[in-house]
Amino acid sequence: MATVLAEKAKELGLKYFLISYTDLFGSQRAKLVPASAIAGMQKNGAGFAGFATWLDLSPADPDMFAIPDPETLTVLPWKKDVGWLASDIWMAGKPVAQGPRVVLKNVMAQAAELGLQMKSGVECEFFLTNADGTAIADELDTGSKPCYDAGALMRRYDVITELCDAMLDLGWNPYQNDHEDANGQFEMNWHYDDALLTADRHVFFKFMAKSIAEKHGLRATFMPKPFLGLTGSGCHSHVSLWNGETNLFEDEAGELGVSQLGYHFIGGTIKHADALAAVLNPTVNSYKRINAPRTTSGATWAPNTVTYSGNNRTHMVRIPEPGRFEMRLADGAVNPYLLQAGILAAGLDGIKNKIDPGKRLDINMYTEGHKVTDAKRLPLNLLDALRAFEANDTLKASLGESFVKSYAKLKHGEWNEYAAHLTDWERKATLDC
Ligand code: ADP
Ligand code: MG
Ligand code: MG
Ligand code: MG
Ligand code: MG
Repeated sequence: MATVLAEKAKELGLKYFLISYTDLFGSQRAKLVPASAIAGMQKNGAGFAGFATWLDLSPADPDMFAIPDPETLTVLPWKKDVGWLASDIWMAGKPVAQGPRVVLKNVMAQAAELGLQMKSGVECEFFLTNADGTAIADELDTGSKPCYDAGALMRRYDVITELCDAMLDLGWNPYQNDHEDANGQFEMNWHYDDALLTADRHVFFKFMAKSIAEKHGLRATFMPKPFLGLTGSGCHSHVSLWNGETNLFEDEAGELGVSQLGYHFIGGTIKHADALAAVLNPTVNSYKRINAPRTTSGATWAPNTVTYSGNNRTHMVRIPEPGRFEMRLADGAVNPYLLQAGILAAGLDGIKNKIDPGKRLDINMYTEGHKVTDAKRLPLNLLDALRAFEANDTLKASLGESFVKSYAKLKHGEWNEYAAHLTDWERKATLDC
């Protein structure tokens, strides 16, 4: 039986619903709707002027409606009167083709036609900073190898456990929390699941981390490289492909326990990596995390090249154990839906065309990478990535032409705004020319 939200409101004592959608830049937009009005909203959606958000719509367009997915109902752990809902956006009786959640559902439907379901787990690294985001919050957190630092982790016990307790209550099966490789940086892990469910949880996790940090007078940021010289925030995504209860990436006889199908999927992500970067590394700042010089901790932990390896974290793709691989390219700015959609679209092409991922490399790519002269490099900036993305007909066919067009248009706008900005560096480097 479908979930009736008005009944849920009574059952859970909810006073309000937060009907939320995610736009192309990953921003969460919402309307706070009293429980007395939820029945109509469940049916018709909450109305928005789409142009007012990052969706490449026009101010002359008719109202856009966010139709909540009742299965995503999540009581806000820090505000128990409110039920959060992810939604799909509709306009003029049709789903908005560039709506990120719609894009992911479409690619997942393409996989389902082949009898495939993608499951994924994401690792959302983030920094806890002071309220204005200019410095990390913990003045004592200054070690040059701060990863897993017990003291720095425990000084943030209140925030981290409030978040972890919330995930335990929500049934996400969280299993570990740690201080990461940069001063002020943390990671919290929960169990993988269906890619759409993981994307909805990813969106919610970011919202929750920011909200709870704010409650503690801090700020949580997922910005890819907020502090030069420190390791940036990645958003690794672990991937497996299933048919019912069978993990199709698992094969005892395959190299590292990964099936031929798995290698073809990896082959697709390798083939399309430069274009995928436009989605997985979506901001100007993203390119200060990948291709970066060594950080004070000794390594950036971010890829510079389009290569794959076994259990070795210096490559773009890592196979940590049989039956799955880890895509290490994406960063904290990635749109949770587009992350999954992009990887799946590239992987499906790999499967359909039996794409060979090439040779596995087991070297330390940071120190020995220069010896691999034929390794494909990642785009050096957002503009290069966008150009590769727009020229990629395979991704266009899978993600949808209007999505690619809208996304590229808005991101070019962001690049142009950046390029029009006069920096201190330019002034210093050029004043005496
Ligand atoms: P690491 O830091 O070693 O890269 P983490 O433990 O931080 O790994 O994160 C691993 C993620 O991979 C978790 O979300 C986990 O649930 C997920 N995962 C484990 N097995 C699979 C699988 N078969 N398919 C997809 N995701 C998986
Ligand atoms: Mg108004
Ligand atoms: Mg991790
Ligand atoms: Mg990490
Ligand atoms: Mg990882």
